[in-house]
Amino acid sequence: MAVNVQAYKELLLYCEKRLVTLVAVSKTKSVEEIHELYNLGHRDFAENYVQELLEKKDKLPQDIRWHFIGHLQSNKVKLIVPFVFLIHGVDSVKLLSEINKQGNRAGKIINCLLQVHISTEETKFGFDENEVNDAVSKLSEFSHLRIKGLMGMASFSNDENLVRNEFSKLKKLFDRLKNGNDFQVLSMGMSGDYNIAIDEGSNLVRIGSLIFGERNYPR
Ligand SMILES: *Cc1c(COP(=O)(O)O)cnc(C)c1O
Repeated sequence: MAVNVQAYKELLLYCEKRLVTLVAVSKTKSVEEIHELYNLGHRDFAENYVQELLEKKDKLPQDIRWHFIGHLQSNKVKLIVPFVFLIHGVDSVKLLSEINKQGNRAGKIINCLLQVHISTEETKFGFDENEVNDAVSKLSEFSHLRIKGLMGMASFSNDENLVRNEFSKLKKLFDRLKNGNDFQVLSMGMSGDYNIAIDEGSNLVRIGSLIFGERNYPR
């Protein structure tokens, strides 16, 4: 297995032209594959599992910006707080509270995104729209975290209109909340739907299989 260099370069150009941050999703991929992309100049990588992230991080250069995009359990927060660049999937006030607590202990301010449930699929994590408003209203209680924006995943569907509407819904919510909240990052779009997401206003895409090839298990 190796990085698809051609696909990566095209993707990077596409993102750069549109001022979109490209985050490479390296879950299940080897340290060697990550290093290959690093050597092309890439620095933003994302992982879904804490244990896997910890194992890889120690074997890779220190200047990698590690994004955590999985479902984070409260008891694992302290393991990533010392080094994580951005936590994308924050989906409960309980988790916010734990991140704040561990940020305080580490003497750091932790950058986070609130995950919003936008798809029709039951299984995907995230706040619904009312819960996001509630969470945002509590942010002043948390001195050791900063919400930089929102993250969402569209339905895994070939229905382009459905996917587009879901991204568009998240963009509207982002625009409504960004004033007064210093929101800057709208994380939406993966290998199968990044161009729709960017059309609809995403400024950060999380791309795995297009860069690294298919994984050995479904997403
Ligand atoms: C795995 C994953 C991705 C990347 O998926 P691809 O389809 O391989 O690009 C993006 N975001 C999240 C939250 C993921 O879990």
